[in-house]
Amino acid sequence: MSGSAAGNSGALRCGHRGCTAAFTEQWGTWPNVVTAVRTIATVVAWAVAVTTGSDGWLLAALLCYWVGDIADGLLARVTHRETRTGAVLDILADRLSVCLVVVTYVGTHPTAAVPAAVFLGQFVVIDAYLTLAFARWSLLSPNYFGLVDATVHRLNWSAPAKATNTGAVLLVWLLTGSTLAATVLATVVLGVKSYSALRLARLPVPQALSGCAVKDVHAAISRGH
Ligand SMILES: [Zn+2]
Repeated sequence: MSGSAAGNSGALRCGHRGCTAAFTEQWGTWPNVVTAVRTIATVVAWAVAVTTGSDGWLLAALLCYWVGDIADGLLARVTHRETRTGAVLDILADRLSVCLVVVTYVGTHPTAAVPAAVFLGQFVVIDAYLTLAFARWSLLSPNYFGLVDATVHRLNWSAPAKATNTGAVLLVWLLTGSTLAATVLATVVLGVKSYSALRLARLPVPQALSGCAVKDVHAAISRGH
């Protein structure tokens, strides 16, 4: 990943938003600070929830994660401070935050075990695999996966897909309390993610990163013929 900066110089200004060519990789960005702060806030609220047995604090932990996750991504896009390091840290921080909240919640609400297991399997395994796959191409983050495959992007990282994938199961559970409804929805999301993973697995992967994801795709396809 760190080697991409050196390889960028020859591929500057491909004109695509989301290609790595025009960016310098760095750690010390404000969006990364927001990611760190929202993750620490989530862990602190979670620790209070565990200590006090309070569902309110657990909800606060979930909200810290949710609001913070929207904020760091938005800040990165608006200030043009997206980095591959930031995207990976964001993805890993998400899994930590969600695992802490969901596992703790199931401990005190055992009826949520089945939808929670389906949801965690989807989010921690298949969605993590999908979301980290952007790094195989010269992309800044999964938000620009449309340069590689429009269908996988639409199903996973378009605005409606993001809202449905991360929030819908939790919302349905919290609002209805229905194990069946939450399990059915979690299974539907798992199905969409599994289909996406199969589609992703069939895409030709570039041997080297050019700095432009579209060039990467063409190089990989022509190598395959
Ligand atoms: Zn490009």
